[in-house]
Amino acid sequence: MIYLEKLIITVAPTGAWPTKKDSEHVPITPEEIADEVYRSWQAGAAIAHIHVRDEQGNPAMTFENFEQAVTLIRERCDIIINLTTSGGLDVSDEDRMKPFVKLKPDLASFDAGSMNWMHTTVFLNTPPFLEKLATKMQENGVKPEIEVFDTGMIYNSMYIAAKGLIDQPFHFQFVLGAPGGITATHKNLLHLAESIPTGSTWSVVGIGKSQMAMAFTALTMGGHVRVGMEDNIYLKKGLLAKSNAEFVDKIVKVSNEFGRDIASPKEARDILSL
Ligand code: ZN
Repeated sequence: MIYLEKLIITVAPTGAWPTKKDSEHVPITPEEIADEVYRSWQAGAAIAHIHVRDEQGNPAMTFENFEQAVTLIRERCDIIINLTTSGGLDVSDEDRMKPFVKLKPDLASFDAGSMNWMHTTVFLNTPPFLEKLATKMQENGVKPEIEVFDTGMIYNSMYIAAKGLIDQPFHFQFVLGAPGGITATHKNLLHLAESIPTGSTWSVVGIGKSQMAMAFTALTMGGHVRVGMEDNIYLKKGLLAKSNAEFVDKIVKVSNEFGRDIASPKEARDILSL
């Protein structure tokens, strides 16, 4: 029996990869990021997953940029903040954790294992780092959004939870279609959803052209969804999204037609036990 609680929409306006060369609409500066989050909140997003860039537009874990973006967002709306801990390459463990330690968001990403990003590099999240990350999140009252790029990462996170370092109920973000991760198929999404502990909540990210297929599948399965330019810049084939809010709009429309209401940030807090 599927229980369709209200749908939590996460917007991820800027990740590590898309640049202004890929789409002029990708927000890069803290001001642009805050503007896009605000528009997305107006459209119905309850959570904002935040990355920042440096002055050249490269992925970075520059604390001042996180601080500025988060301050601007908090001045304008009550969207739940979720900070990345994986916003740059060759960044020290301390710099990966500093934004959530200092800014105390409700959520931060917990990338539950290492993976080959096949087009570039190794996405390194060693067992000692994951243990340190979980400990720091717990100490700071930040809930891990357990990002799962392949099935084994569920094992990794539960291994750390068994040490008492991640509190229940767990919240998972399944990422399908990343280059090197589990492929974006319905069967794989079902497999992931059936592989997590009962009582957990989950959301899905489909990378690139699988974004909407994965989102609409999750919508009917009782999961939650993440959309935005971190994962996909096309609203549909050949058409660049002009704003992240357009993705949110699309999900809201379909969800309303389908009969599943959208969770406000306040309702999302209850659903995620924040
Ligand atoms: Zn991210």
